[in-house]
Amino acid sequence: MLKLSKMAFYALLVLEGPKMARVIEFGPGCDSPAARRKPTGAERRGLAYDAEVKAATDHLYPKVKDFVTPMEWPAIAPFVFHINRLKKQRDAVVLAHNYMTPDVFALVGDFRGDSLQLAREAAVTDAKVIVQAGVHFMAETSKILSPDKTVLIPDMRAGCSLAASITGADVRLIRKKYPGLPIVTYVNTTADVKAECDITCTSSNATQVVEHVAAKWGVDRVIMVPDEFLARNVAANTDIKIIAWKGHCEVHEKFTGEDVRQIREAHPGTIVLAHPECPPDVLEEADFAGSTSALSNHVKESGARKVVLLTECSMSDNVAADNPGVEFVKPCNLCPHMKRISLENIYDALLEMKHEVTVPEGIRIRAKAAINAMLDLPKPKVFPKFKVGAGVYAPVEII
Ligand code: SF4
Repeated sequence: MLKLSKMAFYALLVLEGPKMARVIEFGPGCDSPAARRKPTGAERRGLAYDAEVKAATDHLYPKVKDFVTPMEWPAIAPFVFHINRLKKQRDAVVLAHNYMTPDVFALVGDFRGDSLQLAREAAVTDAKVIVQAGVHFMAETSKILSPDKTVLIPDMRAGCSLAASITGADVRLIRKKYPGLPIVTYVNTTADVKAECDITCTSSNATQVVEHVAAKWGVDRVIMVPDEFLARNVAANTDIKIIAWKGHCEVHEKFTGEDVRQIREAHPGTIVLAHPECPPDVLEEADFAGSTSALSNHVKESGARKVVLLTECSMSDNVAADNPGVEFVKPCNLCPHMKRISLENIYDALLEMKHEVTVPEGIRIRAKAAINAMLDLPKPKVFPKFKVGAGVYAPVEII
């Protein structure tokens, strides 16, 4: 056994740097690498990568091979196996939002999509239990539409900066300030806020909803809460005047027009796609803007070879997994709330049937009316897109 004095050890550490790894691993008083390795989440729960798990899951690995290394797979496969088994036992489905990491999205999600697609699935699924692999307002939406089902969210702290920006009491004050005007709420709000509004919208149908509600109420002004940038981007696509709340998505508000110019300089020929929660100066510089589904669809259908998605990072990863021939430039931003959901806590939620999301009945019924008003509208035949380039700025009144 190699013996070193403390001084010699530190001197060697400074001089030899990385080469010291072997010495440190086997030096006096040190455990072997195997003994020092922390147990994985699966091991801590007694879930092994045994022959049964291997046989049942190995064919799934190619779905995530660009994001999960072969070394990491034995730590992930047991969760996939046991989550899928628990889903059967509990008669449960996992609704996976596009912003979930690829392991959750591709390996355990029964329904995948944006908020609107997941809301529609929640309304029609026969399963007894819904596990919302998304954030809290999405789980509330599922509960509002499916009151007889048990809705679980793997981490109660999975919130949203938009949902946190406004309360039901705020909407009641807005109603007093602007009597006779309809209030449209983006689905990224609490049940309490939805209950005070006339109709919900998503980024897939925001312009359609605004024009519908203006015609129905016979007005030329509509209030949109809580996303200021979505409201501004809708205003550029309609003749209806928009009154907006000043809430922002903490992920999309970080992108700037300057980011787009820098991307174009560093990656010539890249097609720039932006989500409408981004500020208008981003859409001014982008090639295409649309909802989460529209972005994904555009990548598939446009024939673009090199793209950047100015949205949440996992969305970019999940679209990349579906489009293997397309190169993705990745200056994306992570949503810390979405990233609270993992295979580990989905497994725990199903095992212990925990964290149940409930909505008081009085609020649920009124919130459901607002959601149904949206779901009753005809489905758009094509994914609506937002204006890009010149003309993205339209006057908007801020509340
Ligand atoms: S990405 Fe933005 S809008 Fe979506 S959950 Fe995160 S903070 Fe909310």
